[in-house]
Amino acid sequence: APRLDVEKIRADFPILNRDIGGHRLAYLDSAATSQRPRQVEEAMREFSEHSNANISRSVHTLGAEATEAYEGARSRVAAFIKAPSADEVIFTKNATESINLVAYAMLAATVEKGADERFRLGEGDEIVVTQMEHHANLVPWQELCKRTGATLKWIGVRDDFRLDIDSIDQVITERTKLVALTHVSNLLGTRNPLSQVTKRAHAVGALVLVDAAQSVPHMPIDVTEMGADFVAFTGHKMLGPTGIGVLWGRAELLEAMPPFLSGGSMITTVTMEETTFAAAPAKFEAGTPPISAAVGLAAAIDYLDNLGMDNILHHEKELAAYALPRLEQVEGLHVIGPRVPIARGATISFTLDGFHPHDVGQVLDSDGVAVRVGHHCAKPVCSRYGVTATTRLSAYVYTTTEEIDRLIAGLEKVRKVFSR
Ligand code: PMP
Repeated sequence: APRLDVEKIRADFPILNRDIGGHRLAYLDSAATSQRPRQVEEAMREFSEHSNANISRSVHTLGAEATEAYEGARSRVAAFIKAPSADEVIFTKNATESINLVAYAMLAATVEKGADERFRLGEGDEIVVTQMEHHANLVPWQELCKRTGATLKWIGVRDDFRLDIDSIDQVITERTKLVALTHVSNLLGTRNPLSQVTKRAHAVGALVLVDAAQSVPHMPIDVTEMGADFVAFTGHKMLGPTGIGVLWGRAELLEAMPPFLSGGSMITTVTMEETTFAAAPAKFEAGTPPISAAVGLAAAIDYLDNLGMDNILHHEKELAAYALPRLEQVEGLHVIGPRVPIARGATISFTLDGFHPHDVGQVLDSDGVAVRVGHHCAKPVCSRYGVTATTRLSAYVYTTTEEIDRLIAGLEKVRKVFSR
């Protein structure tokens, strides 16, 4: 039974009425960026028209209101991911910056005298990722390894599109300093068994960073239960604005970790010779932060919470269960990802024999159906499965089965269009 009133939800998203060449938009690209409900725009407009000012250092009324709005957004995020403290929530510009923040902090720790050993890297140390990472959770670690002499290793993915979990005892060893892995793959849709990985990582004394860009928007998240040390995600994939991301980190680690960027707002005292840093989260938020985007993100979280993350997860499971068998009936179609709805979200990649994804995407667009085509910033996992590109549909709170039907009908049309 449906647990979301999708028609009511859709009324909050004016863009879903867009006409695309005579067809109503069917937006099936939420894994790239989600659409924003009126409530998010309204919260940001209200802030702009009523309380806009810089935060923290102002004694005037607007400054106090802006500070309250910004810090309120931090508390809102903390409650949403069940963080023990709002001070563990750092605002960044996106998930990519959140991951880079940790990578650059480790680089800083490596060159600084007396930095915490857990962040220091050198020859013989290893960082472990998986073969299904988005480039955002791969390239920063490649760079860090190059600069520090550490070695990058990875957990492979199996023929059934799941993590090769049986190999973790060999891949994660006493040499491992950090394991960075995605919770849900943006290309395969696979959801990874985090607890097995975090258990093994912590048993060997390694830190764990989870790229939750594709999970926080779609399911209830409890960062403590997850067992990770760092969790990164991004506002624009969860009904929020672009320009804001989150890094959650365990308080004790944030205290021990050197900052990535430095400048104003992250200090306690500064002389010409030296500076002492403020405590986290300020230590990691140099300069004026994305204040209005934080307000928008808080409103997005209110919206999601109102729907209920359990209901959202259920809705997407139903959509995946609806879409998968119908896709598989399309002649020459291969799903690049797990079949079982339970181990996956409603992000589904596929190839169509004889047709390039770009052509597929163009035919679909001519019917108003918006999907993503390409390597989805996860080239290594494409190579693993012998494809250079896929077509990807991704669903969210406003997605209907009728839109999936339109996609399927569009796919049937591809063959006709190109065999004329
Ligand atoms: N990780 C994953 C799994 C993603 O899907 C994305 C966005 N495509 C990112 C990281 C990066 O997010 P952003 O571009 O907002 O930094």
